[in-house]
Amino acid sequence: MKELTEVLKDWEAVIGLEVHAELTTLKTKMFCSCPIEFGADPNTHTCPVCLGMPGALPVPNKAAIESIVLAGLATNCDIEKHTMFYRKGYFYPDMAKNFQTTQGPLAFCMRGHLDLELSAKGAAERVDIPKNEGGSYTTRIGITRIHMEEDAGKMTHLGGSEGRIDGAERSLVDYNRAGTPLIELVTEPDLRTPEEARAFMQKLRQIYLTLGISDCSMEEGSLRADGNVSLRRRGSTELGTKTELKNINSFKNLHDGLAYEICRQAEVLESGGVIRQETRHWEPGAKRTIVMRVKETADDYRMFPDPDLAPFDLSDEFIENVRAKLPELPDAKKQRFMESYGLPAYDAGELAGDVEVAEFFEEAAHDEDAAVAKKIANLIINDVSAWTNENATTISKSGIAPAALAKLARLLADDTISSKQGKEVLAALIGEGSDPEEYVKSHGMEQTTDTSAIEQMVEELMTANPDKVEAYRGGKTGLQGFFMGQVMKQLGGQGNPKVISAIVTEKLEG
Ligand code: ADP
Ligand code: MG
Ligand code: ZN
Repeated sequence: MKELTEVLKDWEAVIGLEVHAELTTLKTKMFCSCPIEFGADPNTHTCPVCLGMPGALPVPNKAAIESIVLAGLATNCDIEKHTMFYRKGYFYPDMAKNFQTTQGPLAFCMRGHLDLELSAKGAAERVDIPKNEGGSYTTRIGITRIHMEEDAGKMTHLGGSEGRIDGAERSLVDYNRAGTPLIELVTEPDLRTPEEARAFMQKLRQIYLTLGISDCSMEEGSLRADGNVSLRRRGSTELGTKTELKNINSFKNLHDGLAYEICRQAEVLESGGVIRQETRHWEPGAKRTIVMRVKETADDYRMFPDPDLAPFDLSDEFIENVRAKLPELPDAKKQRFMESYGLPAYDAGELAGDVEVAEFFEEAAHDEDAAVAKKIANLIINDVSAWTNENATTISKSGIAPAALAKLARLLADDTISSKQGKEVLAALIGEGSDPEEYVKSHGMEQTTDTSAIEQMVEELMTANPDKVEAYRGGKTGLQGFFMGQVMKQLGGQGNPKVISAIVTEKLEG
């Protein structure tokens, strides 16, 4: 198969996402008062409503409707005041009612959009549009709707291979998840590259986390996506036949699955074949997609308005009360970090994308000038993040106090210590919660920026190497590195490169 960027020169990829998010932060299910809890003993959180007993009556969860309205407002959707729930025919043991309660043609949230900013790295796949100065670009992705539905229970198949139903001897069902409120966001087919799909999903996750409506755990399946993709010749405006990748559970799988599917479709089309409309499954291990089912006709779910649930008539007051609860969203926060702390766009975006990290940054940086704020940002984005990722923890659980990180940033900003020494101080901060200033003193790090000591070293080196000094002054300026290296060696690698470099240059220039 051809490489993705090669394929994208001739073909335009058209991608639309369907993103499901379980509203895991709610206390109770969508239509009953059973608790929502991941990992509880099977079938301990059930009642006549979520078990689909005859005669049981559903009552909508107001907090869930507030959550979906929040999601809609945060993604620039119109909020539809008059909507209702439908029954979608669905016979499978994981849904005891034999229908799923979901929304019809009109959902609570309609016609929204998100703007994406693709960094230079992510922009490489987009071959057809001009890029900004730094190689980035922005693009607007339409959101068709966000509708509310309920999740099904969870099946476990025993005795077959890899938990699949084929060949299984027995199947178990756990209804704890049945009736968990789910919101499904459907995009317009506006995405053009796997990187855009990944960026959309990442941005949406940041927004939902900021709103606090879902834990968005992709491993546990509370956030998952279906990726729809088709190809058309560059210049054509007609839509090609799409395939759909189901239940993608990581950003990498979303990107890689779509990239594979684009290359596969191109190969089929270029060899004169046709794309069948089918649902496919991405296998990350084997790095390929396989057919799950072929769609020959439109599904007929026999949808009809649920007679047990009255249509909604959301009041302006209800919507405005929800709007008043909107927190500062990642884009606005990024803008504010650039303006109030003088951070570059990249740093501001990285920090603003995570509620906890953003809070930590502000606590550390609120009294500092731009130079120190930039050092704090560097420490968080590069060093602390690497450590929290490695240890599967978060910044607030790292044991680092924001004030201590600010102290360390100040020592870096005024060149008391080098960035290499900074890493050592940070390690001590994380491990022992030590005070950066005391650590620097007790480990003699200040001496290595003691300019008079370094000046003396340089002078001695120049006396010992008169030929090199002469050669430098005769134009071989590369010899600056020799003197720097010697000083650094004498300091056991602990010197501050910036300080040493400045002194060496000054002395050599005479
Ligand atoms: P389906 O009925 O197969 O679920 P929908 O029309 O509901 O299809 O669209 C589902 C998703 O697929 C949406 O995100 C939509 O933008 C996207 N989509 C629709 N047609 C295409 C196409 N030809 N190529 C790529 N994506 C598409
Ligand atoms: Mg679909
Ligand atoms: Zn229940």
